[in-house]
Amino acid sequence: MAWSRLLLLLCNPVPSPPTADQLLATVFGHSAFRGAQSGIVSHITNGGDALVLMPTGGGKSLCYQLPALLRSGTALVVSPLIALMQDQVAALRQAGVRAAFLNSTLDGQQVNSVERALRNGELDLLYVAPERLMMPRMLDLLHESQLALFAIDEAHCVSQWGHDFRPEYLQLSVLHEQFPEVPRIALTATADPQTRDEIIARLKLEDARIFVSSFDRPNIRYTIVDKVDAREQLLRFIQEEHAGEAGIVYCLSRKKVDETAAWLKTRGVRALPYHAGMETATRAKHQARFQQEDGIVVVATIAFGMGIDKPDVRFVAHLDLPKSIEGYYQETGRAGRDGQPADAWMAYGLGDVVQQQRMIDLSEGGEVFKRVLRTKLDALLGLCETAGCRRTRLLGYFGETTGAGHNCGNCDNCLEPPQTWDATEAARKALSAIYRTGQRFGAVHLIDVLRGKSTERIAQWGHDKLTVFGIGADVDESTWRNVFRQLMALGYASPDHEAYGALQLTDASRGMLKGEVQVEMRRVTPTRKGKSAKVRRGASGGLSPADAALMDKLKSWRFVEA
Ligand code: ADP
Ligand code: ZN
Repeated sequence: MAWSRLLLLLCNPVPSPPTADQLLATVFGHSAFRGAQSGIVSHITNGGDALVLMPTGGGKSLCYQLPALLRSGTALVVSPLIALMQDQVAALRQAGVRAAFLNSTLDGQQVNSVERALRNGELDLLYVAPERLMMPRMLDLLHESQLALFAIDEAHCVSQWGHDFRPEYLQLSVLHEQFPEVPRIALTATADPQTRDEIIARLKLEDARIFVSSFDRPNIRYTIVDKVDAREQLLRFIQEEHAGEAGIVYCLSRKKVDETAAWLKTRGVRALPYHAGMETATRAKHQARFQQEDGIVVVATIAFGMGIDKPDVRFVAHLDLPKSIEGYYQETGRAGRDGQPADAWMAYGLGDVVQQQRMIDLSEGGEVFKRVLRTKLDALLGLCETAGCRRTRLLGYFGETTGAGHNCGNCDNCLEPPQTWDATEAARKALSAIYRTGQRFGAVHLIDVLRGKSTERIAQWGHDKLTVFGIGADVDESTWRNVFRQLMALGYASPDHEAYGALQLTDASRGMLKGEVQVEMRRVTPTRKGKSAKVRRGASGGLSPADAALMDKLKSWRFVEA
């Protein structure tokens, strides 16, 4: 830190080291600490280790930048993101902090000069990429230098099952072994208990104090509707609740991004596509327009979002199911950064469950890896299917408990409690149909059997002779789809993707078939929260285009070699 500058600022005749509050104001320009920052800063400054779990935008960097100035020596900041590292160093230098970075963008001479500065104690903060930190030469240099602390940013990168896994992060436990007296602070915005435990174990942070900030975003209203005709439902949502406002619509595939953006445009929405397959210049232009103009709706794959800092995004919509609650939270978290009311809206249907489960089953990677993905998906499905408060469920996943039966007053289920029905009987019929047809068919055919339809396929397989044929004629088709979706989401049936999505019974099915388990299910409510109750249904008997496409696929796959 430039002490002369501080002396001037503080006009103190007897130079005493500045306090945290003073530095907060003079260097960072903030009038007060936010949330847990103050406690974290003093804990680290006093030499303690910490694990900090704070949502994106919560103010994590201050938690190590300030102790770096308060403690003598240089703070080493491990960060995997080169661009972010350079931005931070530039901003710190502007504020008069002696900061530098070491990464692959520097030439030999620049590296030498930074290393010299470190050895001579001329740096407050040094940002390094993890692979560089682990080089023997760098570790030697650290032993010759005075170190204030180690900050490990994006600490979830140690998690082998996370989407940001960096093998070099696994070696960071060396820091604790070689420099046991130097305090360490690990930071992340990924807060599920599994990842948290992994960070603690791999970085040897067993004695660290854990600081968990609330992940609640009270101004975001969560709504998950049953998918009927997702595009039309989305259009109505935008027109009725967010006409002329900025928003993001997430889709799974590039093709769907392009199609949805084009379609919204024909309906008068100022929509622009964004995905990694587009030309770089066009993509950059769309991002810039979204940031600068009012009321642009970006339709995007999850490639869109990193580095977007637009405070007045009024809604984030999902036309496809994300892979996990972490993904859902991160994506919806881009809404309402300004604290004003914002919507997180998602359309969810049978096709989503099948598609995501299928992607996991057919993905490369070992059984353990797939099991982790399945667990993550199941947690998200639980959020989609719950009849209780979505916020409570979401925060519960991140380890925040609000008490059972909590009503947040700002999610669809709290605002308009869903109707439920006793679906035990229907569930048993559905599972019987799976069993009687040999666990070789998908939901489409099973529903035909239950409803007693006379299709070619039913005749061909002789399924009209089965006891289950027509036993579900009193329940309509969309309710049956809902039943199958919930059975899959709840783990009572699972699609075998090696057998083209044929539904099979699970261990849990037995209890249900025996009548030991009761199930309450949500009623099909595609128009929840919508003021107009009329839903224009697609031509295919109430199937959404996505479900219809999926059914076409299932139909062509339905024949499994006997
Ligand atoms: P994170 O790394 O957790 O995503 P940052 O450290 O980038 O968050 O901080 C997010 C934003 O919040 C930055 O613009 C930062 O200047 C601001 N900020 C951080 N701490 C405070 C504070 N105590 N008061 C006001 N603004 C703050
Ligand atoms: Zn709620």
